[in-house]
Amino acid sequence: MKEALRRLRESNSQTLRRVADLVIEEAIRLTDSKIGYFAILNKWERLLTMIAWSKGAMAMCGMANKPIVYLVENTGLWGDCVRDRKAVICNDYKNCSRRTKKGTPKGHVPVLRHMNVPLMAGESIKGVLGVGNRETEYTKDEATLLQAFANAAWPIIAEAKEREEKRSKCSLQQVCPFYGRHIPIHDVMYQAYLQRFCEGDSRECAISQVVQKRGFLKVPKDLYPNQTFRVEEILKR
Ligand code: SF4
Repeated sequence: MKEALRRLRESNSQTLRRVADLVIEEAIRLTDSKIGYFAILNKWERLLTMIAWSKGAMAMCGMANKPIVYLVENTGLWGDCVRDRKAVICNDYKNCSRRTKKGTPKGHVPVLRHMNVPLMAGESIKGVLGVGNRETEYTKDEATLLQAFANAAWPIIAEAKEREEKRSKCSLQQVCPFYGRHIPIHDVMYQAYLQRFCEGDSRECAISQVVQKRGFLKVPKDLYPNQTFRVEEILKR
């Protein structure tokens, strides 16, 4: 594990995405897995943003190559490690009887085995690191190893996240539904709003104004950055 952390530390000027890719690569190597993913949890522990997943999973997966935001309460089995605040192992994914299991999205690489851990910093959970499809069963030993690696990797990931947030004009980009293109919008308008709000003055953005006062859960799914006339009414709800 020392070697894995040394390699990760050498990435200290890389983007968050690159650091996340390295974390996944090392997690796969440490646990003899075939696939992996990494997601960041927001400070209220309600939203998980999938930052990166392994190339092996991507090859067969139709998921877009950009951050995807999930509400923790809507996540399937992979969110259990946040809800249970500990590692979760599932060695027979197909026959797994956990009631939270929802299956995988269409086109996703088949999952045969799965294990994930919450990234802990003291009592807080900062993210989720998951691996899958090891040839033999995952045991508590692999879970302990992955947990130790995830916790040790967090400060390096946090530095990359901070660097990225400083570079970005708006610090909400990693979790914003508009920025992640989760609300329908024409390309031209998207680029225009991106320039005006996300890379310009985010204080003028309706989404940012709601988030700053009430958090992301208060942001309606159809709110666009230019709709500041709606903010007052949204905040009253
Ligand atoms: S400026 Fe507004 S739209 Fe852009 S990332 Fe920030 S909150 Fe989202």
